[in-house]
Amino acid sequence: MRILVVEDEHKIANSIKKGLEQESYAVDVAYDGTDGYDLAASEDYDVIILDLMLPGIDGWEICRRLRESNNHTPVLMLTARGQLEEKLKGFRLGADDYLTKPFAFLELLARVKALNRRPKNTISTILSTGGLTLDTNTFEVKRDRIIINLSRKEFALLEYLLRHQGKILTKDQIIGNVWNYDADILPNTVEVYIGYLRNKIDKPFKKKKELIQTIRGFGYKISTR
Ligand code: CA
Repeated sequence: MRILVVEDEHKIANSIKKGLEQESYAVDVAYDGTDGYDLAASEDYDVIILDLMLPGIDGWEICRRLRESNNHTPVLMLTARGQLEEKLKGFRLGADDYLTKPFAFLELLARVKALNRRPKNTISTILSTGGLTLDTNTFEVKRDRIIINLSRKEFALLEYLLRHQGKILTKDQIIGNVWNYDADILPNTVEVYIGYLRNKIDKPFKKKKELIQTIRGFGYKISTR
């Protein structure tokens, strides 16, 4: 799961980022509206956490532009206490939920999870290929009905591969979606995690086709062919 935080108060932005990363989300932060809009419009996020009062482009305008360009990524607005008119305007422009500052991190987390559960583009909660299933709600992974235990990062990597099954994904795409752009990761981190996943979802099922494939010089894909 990948989240964008657009918030000009560095302290708030960084504490949201830190908290969400501990929950294994990949998090990008923009500290002004212009960067926020550029990232929101060009990258693929599962949820956008959007402050309203921002330098550059304000939160309402970001929301309006995204919806106008047919981007329906769930938006959680951060509003000041008691500003009913702000909230109503946000909803009118296409926001999905709001949270009043100051808020408890656990409440933010609950709302992010709830937004993520909403069907968008009719994505099912179960992703599958070749006898392998991954349930994004229960976090259960099985192959041929045998339960497979994955770490959070392995789960996030497998989910990303499955959401794009049949497509070759480059290391940079994988890093950007499963980790995040400025995370401190080593050049071979993706390879290492692909290895962990193979050991769990392919190696124990010797009679079955290997699902994770290396496309030398390009990247990886998950596919039954
Ligand atoms: Ca602000």
